[in-house]
Formats: sequence, C-alpha cells, structure tokens
Amino acid sequence: MAFYQSHTLQVYNTISGEKETFSPIHEGNIGMYVCGPTVYSHVHLGNVRTFMSFDMIYRYFNHLGYNVRYVRNITDAGHLTDDGNVDNDRFVKQTRLEKLEPMEVVQKYTVYFHKVLDLFNFLPPNIEPTATGHIIEQIELTQKLIEDGFAYESNGSVYFDVQEYNKRGMNYGELSNRNIDELFANTRDLDGQNEKKNPQDFALWKSASPAHIMRWNSPWGEGFPGWHLECTAMSTKYLGETFDIHGGGMDLKFPHHECEIAQGKARNGVEPVKYWMHTNMLTMNGLRMSKSTGNFILPMELINGDNDFFEKAFSPSIVRFCFMQAHYRSVLDISNEAMVASEKGFARLMEGIKLTDSLPVSANSSVDIEKWKQSCYDAMNDDFNTPILIAQLFEGIRYINLINDKKETITEADLATLKETLSVFVFDILGIRNEAETANNSDKLSGVVEMLIKMRNEARANKNWALSDEIRDQLAELDIILKDGKEGTTFTF
Ligand code: AMP
Ligand code: ZN
Repeated sequence: MAFYQSHTLQVYNTISGEKETFSPIHEGNIGMYVCGPTVYSHVHLGNVRTFMSFDMIYRYFNHLGYNVRYVRNITDAGHLTDDGNVDNDRFVKQTRLEKLEPMEVVQKYTVYFHKVLDLFNFLPPNIEPTATGHIIEQIELTQKLIEDGFAYESNGSVYFDVQEYNKRGMNYGELSNRNIDELFANTRDLDGQNEKKNPQDFALWKSASPAHIMRWNSPWGEGFPGWHLECTAMSTKYLGETFDIHGGGMDLKFPHHECEIAQGKARNGVEPVKYWMHTNMLTMNGLRMSKSTGNFILPMELINGDNDFFEKAFSPSIVRFCFMQAHYRSVLDISNEAMVASEKGFARLMEGIKLTDSLPVSANSSVDIEKWKQSCYDAMNDDFNTPILIAQLFEGIRYINLINDKKETITEADLATLKETLSVFVFDILGIRNEAETANNSDKLSGVVEMLIKMRNEARANKNWALSDEIRDQLAELDIILKDGKEGTTFTF
C-alpha cells in the first residue's frame, strides 16, 4: 500500500481553483462532510450522481488506509429556497399537498433515499445527522454570532451581517468569486428584505408565521433555522472547527457554501474547511436534471423501465458504471444511447473478469502487470479520475483476452495480482456490485428455501401443522412468502 500512496493524491480544491497535493489536517485521519438531501420529495437521479461521486471518493480514501469520518446530513427542516416567506419553504408546500405531518413527509422520503442508496451499493456514512436533531446547536451558534456582532435580530428573525463580516477583513464571496457589490446589485427583492440591513444578508433564524408548521422556541420567538446554519452546526460538531473535506453539488457553492464559510469564520476566525470539493451536474438529453423543470427521472423508474425517457430498464450496476465513466467535475449526460453503450461496456468488463478464472498460466509474463496496476492508482491519484481508471481497467481486459487467445502470457503470481487489482478497483473502489456473487448467493438462497418447502411438505404429510406453520411464518418474517397452489408450493423474495 505504501508504494502506491507515495504517488501523491491530487485533489481539486474549488477555493483555490487548483489541484493540490492532499494532506489531511491530522495524519492518517480524514473528516469529510457532504451536504445531504432535502427530504421533502424523492431524490432524483441527479442527486444520486452527486452522492455516488462522494461514495467513490470515500471508498478510495478507505482503500488507501485512511481512517475517515464521513458525515452526510439529512436536511429535514429550514431549507428555504431563498430567504423568502413560508410559501417558499418547500416542506410546508409539500405537506399541504399531501396532507401529512411534516415529520411523516421527512420519514417517507428518508426511507426512500436509503432504499435508493442500498440499490446502488452505497456505503453508509459514519454519521447521518438531521437538522431537526440539532436545533439547540443552531440556536447557540446564532446567539454567539449575535454576541460577537456578526448577526442581528429583526422582527423575530436573525440575519447574518455580510457588510460587518467584510468590514472585519474577511471576504464574503471568496469561494464563488463574487464581489459584494455585484451581489448587492443582483439580489432580487424578496420577502424579508425590509427586515434586513442589506439585501445580501442571509437568515440564520426565521420567525415562523402562524401557518408555518415546523417551528421551535428560541430567544427570538417561535421560528426555524436557516438552511446554511444547519451544515455549519453539524459539520463542526462532529468534525471540529476546521476539517478536511466539504462536498456537495456545484450548485451549492453559492449561496450555501459561501454562507457556511462566513458562519464558520465569523464564529472563530478560522477557515472551516481545507478542501472544498464540488461535483458537476447530471443532465438528461442535454438538459440539467431538476425537479423544478420536470426534466428528471427517479432512480427506481430507470431500474424498472417504467419511464418515458428510456427504451428499456437498466440495472443499478449499469447505472453506477455509466456514472463512473465521467469525471466527477465534468457534466454527465444520460440518454438512451449512453445507457445502451454503458450496458455493452459493462458486459465486456464483467466477461473479462470472469475469464480470469480460466486463464492459462506460463513460466513468464509478456505483459507488465505491476506497471498496469500503478497506472490504475495514478488515475485515481489524479483527482479521482474514474474515466481514465476505467480505460486502464479495459487495458487489463485487453490483456486477459490476449492471454486467453495465447497471444500473450502471464505467470500465476501476475495473474493473481491482475485478478485482485480488478476486483479492488471495480468492486471496492468504483463500488459496482459483484453481480456474479449476488446471483450465486441468490441461487444458494433459492436452494435453501426449496429444502425448507420439502421439509414443510413432509411435516404436513405427518399432520405436524405446528411445524409446517412455523416454517411458513418464519420465512414470512424474512420476507420470503410461500404460496400453495395446485402445482405445489412456490415462493417469492
Ligand atoms: P438537494 O436535495 O436539492 O439539496 O440536493 C442534494 C444534492 O444533489 C446537492 O449536493 C445538489 O447539488 C445535488 N444535485 C442536484 N441536482 C443535481 C444534478 N442534476 N446533478 C448532480 N447533482 C445534483
Ligand atoms: Zn449543506
């Protein structure tokens, strides 16, 4: 491992606009925070792309041997699309629409989010904090910012004072390279503006109108926290005042991450984050995927084929492979053709991997496997360049086919390295599920259920109803449902 680590990892830092040699604040440890979903509706495939990029990054850090604490929040309160009135609060809108309790909405879409992540083989973060679970921390932070003169109360709401922040030598706009006058000129006239000293001031705490359902007591009356505040409160609570990596989609750079920097620096004068990482957008048929424009597809719809955009269904592994074929900082467009091409590429990769089980070995290798392995690491060390990595993996597949055709040779030891390297990069780092293994496991499970059905039939023949019911009920608890029919017993799971 040390050999590969010695080829240093370069990470593109949005705040410097350059690739930098990665060096964590505390050697061997990494604190990583990624803005999680707003659980007011189903996550769409674009959201999945961003979270998948960070899943791959997390997997690579783990592989390199770092001890990573990965925190990804759930935004379940206070996510205002702007600093506007309650009708702009997306939770309230959705709640009225569906006539559910706010926390019911939150629960429903959190469960859906987790199902989607499972489907695409995501590793869970180490901590998944919710905004509603950290109201006290957010109130305390707001109080501190008021005490230190960085925030002011107005009409039961609290705003961050951007001009005061800049007066004290800091620079609001440093991440997104915007200057404050420009921001001033571009700010739209929104509700709440007359409460603010300046239009670019942003809400830390919003007073709740009687119609607003999600509300908490605070020193400023009943209200709810601002969206930017929750990420500052939760990231620093679990990762410290300055931590290594903060990630999210590019669209979060401004205002969300800009505000997080301001809140963090105003609190204690230090940069909250060492490396800012932003992923690029998923587009579909050339247009950015987004709920508001209607150009979106739900992950499940792509997988079950129940949609108007694609001619057929595509498995989660093919989707994952397709996403990994683009660099996380490049736009990725999905279309029917792109998915079909990924399906073919994926099949070629899997067939090649399968062939490694039956390759002939020789006394000498005519292919340089160590050099090839290094080139896989070089790709990942260059700012997680998964498309180059995949090109290298196909180079490995080319070797396999040549060896199979007896046009190249490989030793037993080199073959073991080739197999292991493919497995590490494809399954552990790119996170593609090993479907051969899954299929094998499902065959085994079917065999076990068949055996239990046979035992149940024997129990029934012996009029041992207690045993036969127990077998059926216990299988049902595992979601394996037995159905007795004319043709015998069938099952589903
Ligand atoms: P939201 O739930 O709207 O806060 O979004 C969750 C994450 O998905 C954020 O990091 C967004 O930047 C990201 N995101 C939203 N739309 C897209 C898209 N079309 N492609 C990639 N990421 C997206
Ligand atoms: Zn955030």
